[in-house]
Amino acid sequence: MNNGLVVQESVCLRELNTLRVGVTARFYTKVRTLGQLRQALTWARERNLETLVLGGGSNLVFAEDVNALVIHLAIVGRCWRDVQDSQATLVLGAGENWHEAVLYASGAGYRGIENLALIPGTAGAAPVQNIGAYGVELSDTLLSVTALDTETLEPVVLASNQCDFAYRDSLFKRQPGRYIILEIALLLSRSRPLALGYGDLKQYFSGRQVSRSLTPADVAQGVMAIRRRKLPDPAQLPNAGSFFKNPVVTDQTWERLNRDYPEMVAYPADHSVKLAAAWLIDQCGWKGYRNGKVGVHNRQALVLVNHGDGSGRDILALARRIRADVEERFGITLEMEPRVVPASLGL
Ligand SMILES: Cc1cc2nc3c(=O)[nH]c(=O)nc-3n(C[C@H](O)[C@H](O)[C@H](O)COP(=O)(O)OP(=O)(O)OC[C@H]3O[C@@H](n4cnc5c(N)ncnc54)[C@H](O)[C@@H]3O)c2cc1C
Repeated sequence: MNNGLVVQESVCLRELNTLRVGVTARFYTKVRTLGQLRQALTWARERNLETLVLGGGSNLVFAEDVNALVIHLAIVGRCWRDVQDSQATLVLGAGENWHEAVLYASGAGYRGIENLALIPGTAGAAPVQNIGAYGVELSDTLLSVTALDTETLEPVVLASNQCDFAYRDSLFKRQPGRYIILEIALLLSRSRPLALGYGDLKQYFSGRQVSRSLTPADVAQGVMAIRRRKLPDPAQLPNAGSFFKNPVVTDQTWERLNRDYPEMVAYPADHSVKLAAAWLIDQCGWKGYRNGKVGVHNRQALVLVNHGDGSGRDILALARRIRADVEERFGITLEMEPRVVPASLGL
């Protein structure tokens, strides 16, 4: 015990990651304030220990016991700033539950993040891989990130354009451990058009008679209904969401693929083409595959699931086989979306 900091030894992380992998953290602490976070980092430094920041554990694959101090970030709080007629800034503590924040903002009539409903995890992790769904990315509304620079132990404010956001990527993902996100600020609007153009969402709302204008809360409900139909709930069937990123290829590669596989699913991206990784995996016959403890979801080939006491290594072994098949058949190398801990055991 040290000024509110409680460090526990040998803590099982099974309930703290959505794949329900039962590894042990050598040390674990839950931090609720900036002061505790600084103390935790100093405590680890004094003992020459690595640290790992944990949010909701929904984008992590633990491949073995974690020989580090796991810092479970629980700095909460939310408030509105700079409220004007048509827009306002929503500030969220890093430990806030992301989905609840979406319901809160869309319920208040603010637009911008409603398509990101039901993505598990915390607000603080949302910028790490620039979460995205149904045609919207966090970077579309993110104004700034306040983070602790672990080199100086001082907070810094990074504007959105300093975060190097890209598809499921950011400065924070490329430099894990350098910044610990304390809060995020989102610029939300009461008037921007709702983003309803994306495949499933378009279909969902075109098939419904709505006698009034759609609200952001309606869109959030639509997204939730679609996601519940298509994606397994980690509480029932442990998983880490999409296991692979959708590969982005050049126009020339796309021409070749499209010639060989005219039915291949793809979407236009910036000066390139984004392929549907789920389609590639499905074509290799993996959808619904089960190998004892782990498998591939039977409605979404992109989601690897843990049927029981599968380990992170079981999941990664399956992912390697899937990646090899896709590579052999299509000449495309799939890239993993979740972070593997330790990185040396990743694909
Ligand atoms: C069923 C399911 C559906 C999903 N759907 C989507 C989707 O549609 N779109 C999408 O983009 N993602 C999706 N995901 C992935 C995941 O929910 C997101 O990446 C989410 O933002 C992870 O949040 P988390 O708090 O669980 O992060 P964690 O898994 O705890 O951590 C993820 C990474 O972020 C780091 N991190 C966590 N908090 C902080 C912080 N405060 N500061 C710095 N680094 C931090 C961790 O060290 C780790 O590297 C899905 C996952 C599941 C299980």
